[in-house]
Amino acid sequence: MPLQFFNTYSREIEEFGPRDATARRARMYTCGPTVYSRAHIGNFRAYIFEDLLQRHLELRGYNVDRVMNITDVEDKTIRGAREAGIPLQEFTEQFKAAFFEDAHMLRIKRADEYPAATDQRYIDRMIGMISALISKGLAYQADDKSVYFRINKFPDYGKLAHFDLTQLQSTGRVKHDEYDKEHIGDFALWKAWDEEDGNVKWDSPWGPGRPGWHIECSAMSMALLGDQIDIHCGGVDNIFPHHEAEIAQSEGVTGKKFVSYWLHCAHLLVDGQKMAKSLGNFYTVPDVLAKGYTGRELRYALLRVHYRVPLNFTWEGMNEARESLGRIDEWLARLRQIAKSRNVQRPTLNAQRPTTAFEDALDDDLNISAALGFLFESIRETNRAMDQNEMDAASASAWLEWWKRINSVLDLEAETEVTIPEEVAQLAQQRENARREKNWKRSDELRERISALGWEVRDTKDGSKLTRSTRNA
Ligand SMILES: [Zn+2]
Repeated sequence: MPLQFFNTYSREIEEFGPRDATARRARMYTCGPTVYSRAHIGNFRAYIFEDLLQRHLELRGYNVDRVMNITDVEDKTIRGAREAGIPLQEFTEQFKAAFFEDAHMLRIKRADEYPAATDQRYIDRMIGMISALISKGLAYQADDKSVYFRINKFPDYGKLAHFDLTQLQSTGRVKHDEYDKEHIGDFALWKAWDEEDGNVKWDSPWGPGRPGWHIECSAMSMALLGDQIDIHCGGVDNIFPHHEAEIAQSEGVTGKKFVSYWLHCAHLLVDGQKMAKSLGNFYTVPDVLAKGYTGRELRYALLRVHYRVPLNFTWEGMNEARESLGRIDEWLARLRQIAKSRNVQRPTLNAQRPTTAFEDALDDDLNISAALGFLFESIRETNRAMDQNEMDAASASAWLEWWKRINSVLDLEAETEVTIPEEVAQLAQQRENARREKNWKRSDELRERISALGWEVRDTKDGSKLTRSTRNA
């Protein structure tokens, strides 16, 4: 199956092919955080989906150039700084730092660039784009001195969101002066300064003011990735008006198709409800860590559901994540032990050799549920082979190599490698043999000896499992 994604623009699954196919270069722009408060785990679900997308493209041999913007000037950041009584930059800096801290905890790969909207380089670029739109008749300055995009002059407006222009309602992002606009759906490119903005302002041909949120992404994307990019991502709530506006602005200026593939991540629900501070179900990454979970466990919990399906976050789900990761850890420990034992047993059956099913599943619009299904099926099968002493060192190494490859996408390995000491492994093997001979007395003795070394043997329906004993810890 070719690599394919669901494109929000066409509402169809499309085969992926970057513009720069010979260099296998994939240019990717992802809308980043608005730094007016700490991002919540719903935001991070989208960032983890983008991380998965980047890593899978890399596994498939693409060189990904990824840009994630930081929105550090818009209504909420200005209001926040004013209420805190500190300069805008000082106000946003703390949330920028928090964002990077949380992203690091969740093992999200860093983008190549994190442009900030307040950087003068990009402000200049935004002003240049707005001037170009005005000269093409696609924008106008209204009586309130703000500059608006004239959506009636852009026939494709509404195409991404599949919206009918006549049904447009005010988005609430523009100021109170709706009456100055020609059409209720016209969005601000440049917002004229008013008292509430304090000293947050830049000079422009239209007087002092600040850029609108949408133009920030168009300008930064163009400045760093060029006029045309391959992939643009965000959450579903970015589709309208934000991404719709980005298309109108960028294509309005260049006359070229802005984005080839639009990918959007569905919402995160908490206990089946929309996350809201008023409902008391609003969690940040530190909130989850404070409950005793790790960043790795949260990463798994946010990663395991297909990105276009709403994900329901529950504490039960966090426990399942812990359980699943425990199975991976144990499995890796057993494989490592056999790989280094130079064990030349009966060779592993063909059916238990690593396949490409994992990455093939991800080729299908990042079907992570199917990919993880293959992973756990493989774990079950290889564990069975190990129980029956049918895994030789070479096969175990092949599985470890396989894991290395798929873990470049998952990034779920434990920070400290779990290894089973040689002595414990040998005792476990002897115990396995004793059990097969139905020598229960010897089996129990061996269990005691294993236990004395700080390990625990559990007999499960999938065979015996070795874990570090919590009693002796
Ligand atoms: Zn954006």
